[in-house]
Amino acid sequence: ERGEDVFASLARSFNGMADSLQSQINQLAALSQLQQRFVSDVSHELRTPLTTIRLAGDVIYDQRESFPPATERTAELLHTQIERFDRLLSDLLEISRYDAGSVVLDPEPTNLVRLADDTVDEMRTLAEQNGTELRLEAPGGYFDVGMDPRRIRRIVRNLLGNAIEHGEGRPVVVTVDSNESAVALSVRDYGLGMSQADVNHVFDRFWRADPSRKRTIGGTGLGLAISLEDATLHSGWLQVWSSPGAGSCFRLTLPRVPGREITSSPLPLPP
Ligand code: ADP
Repeated sequence: ERGEDVFASLARSFNGMADSLQSQINQLAALSQLQQRFVSDVSHELRTPLTTIRLAGDVIYDQRESFPPATERTAELLHTQIERFDRLLSDLLEISRYDAGSVVLDPEPTNLVRLADDTVDEMRTLAEQNGTELRLEAPGGYFDVGMDPRRIRRIVRNLLGNAIEHGEGRPVVVTVDSNESAVALSVRDYGLGMSQADVNHVFDRFWRADPSRKRTIGGTGLGLAISLEDATLHSGWLQVWSSPGAGSCFRLTLPRVPGREITSSPLPLPP
């Protein structure tokens, strides 16, 4: 009987603990929902004035050559900052969609080598401006794998952009490989690299390495955070290896889901 009393009181106190834990979780969930709504609302609210500012800025930018040199530079600065603001708002909206759980993938059979090849082509102009040679290495044949090509392309574009920006003009090598269970794409640069402390934060929202070493001001610090969300939505991984002065390697791995693969014969490499 005494034993039953002990069990009953234990059960009561566990119940009490569970109730208070549940109510704390509910409060936290409500708070995080509020925060997510706030970010989303603010981003939407800022869109409208930004559109007006952008239109005005474009008019000024288009006439910049008719201004005195100092004013011309101001027009260019305005243009750059509007672009940056625009990117920041889009990225913020995207982040708030992930937090709301409202992002749905739109998968279709996609050849990762082709996708990489297209994206490398797309980034060539930027690479040339930085004196960077882009190389694509894709040994072997590849299967179409189910993925959301728009989102995967954005990841590759982002990784390539970072590699070019921090690559010190040295070659950037994109490698695509696969095995029975996954396809993977790596972007390797031989540039600045990062310390272990930096690597630990590289996927954090808004995180950017020491600004003193940055030459460009274009980034938002959200690119890798968004890329990681997209990789995770695909049940994939995004990994990084890096060493100061030796460069970095970012690797995206996507699982091959049986039944979602359309072609089973190897495809020829793009020229
Ligand atoms: P952004 O490029 O907009 O700053 P990201 O999320 O893409 O934001 O990257 C965050 C930071 O990680 C960058 O600002 C940079 O400091 C560091 N980083 C990313 N890629 C590389 C790279 N390939 N080499 C060195 N540092 C990098």
